[in-house]
Amino acid sequence: MSTYDVAVIGSGPGGYVAAIRCAQLGMKTAIIEKYSTLGGTCLNVGCIPSKALLDSSHHYEDALKHFEEHGIDIPGDVKLNFKKMIERKAGVVDQNVKGISFLMDKNKIDVYEGLGSFKDATHINIASEKETKTIEAKNIIIATGSKPGSLPFIDIDKERVITSTEALSLSEVPKHMIVIGGGVIGLELGQVYRRLGAEVSVVEYMDRILPTMDKAQSKELTKVMKKQGVKFYTSHKVSEVTRKGKEVTIKATDKKDKEVTFTGDYCLVSVGRKPFTEGLKAENAGVKINERGQVEVDEHLQTNVDNIYAIGDVVKGAMLAHKAEEEGVFVAETLAGQKPHINYNLIPGVVYTWPEVASVGKTEEQLTEEGVAFKSGQFPMRALGRSRASGDTDGFVKILCDKETDEILGVHMVGARVADLITEAVTAMEFRASAEDISRMSHAHPTYGEAMKEAALAATDNRPIHM
Ligand code: FAD
Ligand code: NAD
Repeated sequence: MSTYDVAVIGSGPGGYVAAIRCAQLGMKTAIIEKYSTLGGTCLNVGCIPSKALLDSSHHYEDALKHFEEHGIDIPGDVKLNFKKMIERKAGVVDQNVKGISFLMDKNKIDVYEGLGSFKDATHINIASEKETKTIEAKNIIIATGSKPGSLPFIDIDKERVITSTEALSLSEVPKHMIVIGGGVIGLELGQVYRRLGAEVSVVEYMDRILPTMDKAQSKELTKVMKKQGVKFYTSHKVSEVTRKGKEVTIKATDKKDKEVTFTGDYCLVSVGRKPFTEGLKAENAGVKINERGQVEVDEHLQTNVDNIYAIGDVVKGAMLAHKAEEEGVFVAETLAGQKPHINYNLIPGVVYTWPEVASVGKTEEQLTEEGVAFKSGQFPMRALGRSRASGDTDGFVKILCDKETDEILGVHMVGARVADLITEAVTAMEFRASAEDISRMSHAHPTYGEAMKEAALAATDNRPIHM
């Protein structure tokens, strides 16, 4: 039987990063993945394919609607080759998953394909089609991720009533896609199909889309996506989803308790994801799973069994690839006797619609609720030379800082490239910068980043230059 210092179950961004860091620190490491490709949700059916389709559909929309204003005439009609778009996406996924296999080889990590399940606290059975093997490991990291959530009355048939996984590989552009849930997946994939010509209706339970982000961001994205033709039905409680042939009918009640019926050809269910531990047999090792289905961990990401840790979507906290990665590094370094740290308040959240939406730290609603005295400075993208040059004038940067000390407490952005821009805010907050610190730093001109400096000037003492 092969023995290891560490065995990681699951090869998503949490698992594969944990395995690499363990190997870098000199531990003999194995990784177990039930699918034939590595990379987990993120690389196979999550972050990467969704961004590939967002980019492709963005190009299509530009060619269709915006090239002309830039003085680019296309002879003949712009035509969509959806099959090719989906094939390109598959190619991008393929390159990325092969990259992870390369990294496993490079770091001399043993890769096992098969379903990993606990035999006991130090032994894992690995069942593949061919055989069942058992390996022994001193330490085990559970990184089994999550799967799409649903509502109790919905039958996900994976053909017409679908999750994000199927929405990333459709064979046709829907005529009318009804999206249940105006969160990250619903908005990103809703925008993809809207750009490709589908009618898109988003039915959201709460009174605004992106309900956990700053209210100003929800408002701005709603405004822009409405202009793009997406229809929003907030404060709607879905009660029934039925399919008949190619038709899907959704019944919901609005805030006045009136029944509303939506009819389309596809229904995307995007109401959140749930932790995945099926088949893991955690009970054989005595590992506690809580009532939310998460593997229960303490502040060291250690389970109730000393040598077993858990990371990523399968534990509490934001279901984000970069959060899972940080936790992978954290556990590897803990096992090596180091004292790592994760600042959970500074894990940024990004929605890759266009304009993009990005956030870090506290929202205005959270600061108000916590009774923190704060100042706010906001600067619109439309006032930037860079935005006018590219034509991306929607959005803003909003900085919230402590009223007394000027320390930045939260930064919330909507606009072109803010997914990249948010890193400046994370860096500033990690070093506990004040808004004045940012306002006194030179920002290259012309860049979208100048909005950060201007918002900082606005937050410090209301003196933006270009407004
Ligand atoms: P996962 O990536 O879910 O990986 C878990 C792996 O464990 C899987 O490969 C699974 O097959 C394997 N596994 C499970 N049980 C076993 C077992 N018993 N034995 C062997 N293997 C097992 N996050 C972002 O930060 N940015 C984005 O842009 C983004 N976009 C997304 C878009 C979509 C459509 C979706 C669905 C998600 C997106 N996410 C994004 C979320 C991101 O994918 C997850 O947060 C991330 O993948 C979590 O990583 P993980 O390692 O915890 O788990
Ligand atoms: P989400 O939590 O972002 O959004 C779910 C939405 O559904 C919420 O707005 C919620 O209010 C709504 N909802 C819940 N129950 C409902 C009901 N009964 N009727 C109508 N609406 C309802 O979840 P998601 O969009 O499914 O994404 C799942 C996870 O994947 C998220 O945790 C997210 O972090 C991750 N993800 C991240 C990215 C990214 O980082 N860009 C992209 C995609 C997914």
